[in-house]
Amino acid sequence: MELTQQVALVTGGSRGIGAAIVSELLAADATVYLTARHVPSQEQTAIFNAISPNWHALTADVTDADAMQQVIKQIVADAGQLTVVVNNAGITQDQLLLRMTPADFARPIEVNLQGAFNVLQPALKQMYRQKAGVIINMASVVGLHGNLGQANYAASKAGLIGLTKTAAQEGALRGIRCNAVAPGMIATEMTANLSAKVQDQLLAKIPLGRFGQPAEVAAATMALITNDYLTGQVLTVDGGLTI
Ligand code: NDP
Repeated sequence: MELTQQVALVTGGSRGIGAAIVSELLAADATVYLTARHVPSQEQTAIFNAISPNWHALTADVTDADAMQQVIKQIVADAGQLTVVVNNAGITQDQLLLRMTPADFARPIEVNLQGAFNVLQPALKQMYRQKAGVIINMASVVGLHGNLGQANYAASKAGLIGLTKTAAQEGALRGIRCNAVAPGMIATEMTANLSAKVQDQLLAKIPLGRFGQPAEVAAATMALITNDYLTGQVLTVDGGLTI
């Protein structure tokens, strides 16, 4: 897929991995709509503007299905189509299983998994009409392998992988592709809050000896977007963490 003249939506595109994906899409000449609950920082806005003016920030919470339907309606009304969707918005809410409340368990599932569905379904409807489109879901190595203290997050990301493979099967009938990315430890706000001790323990497990950069996840995402023969795949980007 050539990205010139394509229209993309990236949820959670205001910072971190999502913002790196927005930058890559802009550099490839796509028009990009990003959503988050808050607008991007001035610093991030300047980074996007230095690449291209063809981006728009909309504030919307992925857990609000009606709001996400409206976002997609608005994009199609403004830009005439929606050909690339990256379901990237996500949160962690860590707790050991025995201490995890039902609300702790539900929240990452509501944002990471239900939130992705809230975008994917109306996006698919539009893509079916177009008979073209590609969807990327931001999973995690934790969804493939589990992780101490992250039962809720692991369940949400494992669910995203099942959603990806099903959307790939159903979408293929109409020329729509759907893939997932499974990052390991990436240097963003999400991981910045880990204590130095936990960061050192994690680093010791990564064969390449460092956390990944958001741009490295974005490059892998672009490969899954642009290769027309890739669908239903989960691409791990983890410096060898899960070898
Ligand atoms: P950040 O916390 O840096 O960014 C998260 C983004 O999601 C922000 O734009 C945030 O904006 C948005 N967001 C969060 N909650 C909502 C919501 N309810 N509705 C709409 N937008 C929301 O995270 P990362 O960049 O690190 O992570 C991005 C994705 O990559 C996530 O899905 C994460 O699970 C996944 N991932 C990250 C890894 C890492 O090591 N960093 C490893 C594996 C996977 P706002 O707060 O304004 O809403």
